[in-house]
Amino acid sequence: MRYIKNEQFVDLSKMCTIRIGGKAKKVYFPDSPEQIKILLQEASEKNKKFFPVGIGSNTVFSDGVLDYIFVSTKELKKYSVKTEKDFFYIEAEAGVSFKTILGIVKKYNLEGFENLSGIPATIGGATVMNAGAFGTEISDIIEEVHWIDTKCRYRVLKRDEIDFSYRRSPFQKNGFVYKVVIRLKKSGKDIPSIIKKHLEERNRKQPLEYPTSGSTFKNPSEYPAGYLLEKAGLKGYRIGNVAFSEKHANFLINIGGGRFKELKELVETAERKIGVLYRIKLEREIEIVE
Ligand SMILES: Cc1cc2nc3c(=O)[nH]c(=O)nc-3n(C[C@H](O)[C@H](O)[C@H](O)COP(=O)(O)OP(=O)(O)OC[C@H]3O[C@@H](n4cnc5c(N)ncnc54)[C@H](O)[C@@H]3O)c2cc1C
Repeated sequence: MRYIKNEQFVDLSKMCTIRIGGKAKKVYFPDSPEQIKILLQEASEKNKKFFPVGIGSNTVFSDGVLDYIFVSTKELKKYSVKTEKDFFYIEAEAGVSFKTILGIVKKYNLEGFENLSGIPATIGGATVMNAGAFGTEISDIIEEVHWIDTKCRYRVLKRDEIDFSYRRSPFQKNGFVYKVVIRLKKSGKDIPSIIKKHLEERNRKQPLEYPTSGSTFKNPSEYPAGYLLEKAGLKGYRIGNVAFSEKHANFLINIGGGRFKELKELVETAERKIGVLYRIKLEREIEIVE
């Protein structure tokens, strides 16, 4: 295989926001579609699991040594901004963070992204997860996605060719999102003040003072997951050094030195309890990699 920047025995707790996990045998840092294709090929030839990683804000890694083809998007941070009449098109490689996009949005007072502000994400991870908040999903502003499929074909998909739904996209466990184009509009509203309001609300409602992986479960159609967890007595429930937050029952937090097996036990306890008490099957939003 041609040389692609990589590191060995990487601490996985540093690759996810909840700061739990063992080691990755190897993590690759490709900087071009060609390198990504080589890694996809390698995974298929060696029959290894292929796992792209953004900020790791929706991901939890197990203990021990994981021998996956981990592909970080840290070296994929190029972006450009083009304008056409009132519209701004941001073309961003997968590793561009929401923070960077927020900077552009504030600078030009753009509309469309404000409700997503504060989600700790890369644009690649957010597209794959169809991340959303306050009634907006990233799929609402996507123009096109540049995707390398598992057969190593580089494909450019327009928004209406992509089947997004609640926290779902066709890109999950399916190749690599290399680049995303979003379309925003010059606004007459005071966008920075709307953003400030959202960030304050997140600070108030979410346990951002702890390492966390955000919402653990998707909201079932019947009730919000946080409400069910609270009713089941799991708000603040702690095993070892991991707990469901007192501030937001659906957020798992690492109180300090939390272990994977504690987290897994909490997740499974919640699934069991909600199943028994309310006959509702919780679906995980976080992804557990083990
Ligand atoms: C404090 C906090 C608040 C949050 N609030 C919200 C919220 O309001 N709304 C919401 O929707 N989510 C929220 N989340 C969850 C999380 O931030 C989102 O799911 C986010 O989109 C994940 O982005 P990421 O770059 O960290 O992805 P990662 O966690 O790194 O990856 C997520 C998934 O996408 C895959 N992936 C990542 N990059 C690529 C790529 N380029 N190509 C193919 N696959 C890829 C990974 O393999 C993994 O399966 C929150 C999380 C935290 C910690």
